[in-house]
This record gives sequence, structure tokens and C-alpha cells, in this order.
Amino acid sequence: MVERPRRPHTGRVRHLVLAPRRGHQGRGGRWAGRADARADPRPVRLRRRRRPVRTRRERERAIPRVACPYCCRPAALLHSQSRGYPYPANWGPAWKCATCDACIRCYAGSERPLGSLANAETREWRRRAHAALDAFWRDGGMSRSAAYRWMAKAMGLTKAEAHIGRMDPEACRQLIELIGRRER
Ligand SMILES: [Zn+2]
Repeated sequence: MVERPRRPHTGRVRHLVLAPRRGHQGRGGRWAGRADARADPRPVRLRRRRRPVRTRRERERAIPRVACPYCCRPAALLHSQSRGYPYPANWGPAWKCATCDACIRCYAGSERPLGSLANAETREWRRRAHAALDAFWRDGGMSRSAAYRWMAKAMGLTKAEAHIGRMDPEACRQLIELIGRRER
């Protein structure tokens, strides 16, 4: 048997599966019935396993799973015509936990939540924090993005975490206090 020269390993892991060769199961003769009767002396061909490919459209269409932070159960996605839709007008799709009366709106034109689900208390604190931060950058001659950068630094948050929509009442209180101290 001729052995082919081995290529040096490139370090890339390929997804390989063994492809059984047809027609080597029922061989008779000397090896029939023995444990290694199936051992084919020829090297087994390797076949590349296809990974499931998702197109961009499929990824965008995929509905995210959103959990309620209070009860940890999955929230329901409601549209303006659904029963129990939490808003007085069509504010786009919303995620809601009926048990905890918590909800969150979505980014425009998507079903991605703007932050975590909020109950009445959290909604009120987020509203106050938004009002305080908006006044802070408008009156302080600052850009909105600069205000968010300042907030992230002052509160020790990453850029991804620096959203009022992700804050709990305690963080909102802390933000309002920081703004008050800065303004004085
Ligand atoms: Zn809940």
C-alpha cells in the first residue's frame, strides 16, 4: 500500500466524521464472526461534516428569548393588537411577564428588547433617571454620547451595560445622585 505523505498540521481544527465504507460488513472467510471482522485494512476516508449555516436574514428573524428578571420565567412577546399589550398606543412589540406586571419595549423595527423587563417601580425610577440624564447633558452643553460615556465611567459600567433600560431602581437612584453631585 502506498502511503501518501502527510501534510503538516495547520493548527485549524476541521469538523471531521468517519465515513463508513459500504460493503465491508458481510465479509466471510477467515475473519467472519471475529471481533475484528469489520476492520477494513484500507484507511477510512474522512468526510467533512457540514455545519448548519444560518443566513443573515434567518439570524435577524430569529426571535430572542427573554426572561423575566423577577420570576426568571420566559416573557411573552406582545404586539399592539394582542390581549394584555401594556401600552396605551402602538409602541411596537413588547415583552411582558403578566405574573410580575413587568414589560419592556423593543428597538425600533425589531423584537430585540431595549433592556430588561421592568415592573412599575423600576419603570418609574428609569423614567426619573432618563429625565435627569437628559437635563444633565442638555443644560451642561454636552453631547448625548458624551453623557453616556461619563455615566459609564462614573458608575463603572462597560459601554454595553451603560443603558438606563438595563438598570434596577438602586442603579437609577445612584445615577441621579451622581448627576446631582456633579451639577453642584
Ligand atoms: Zn415575571
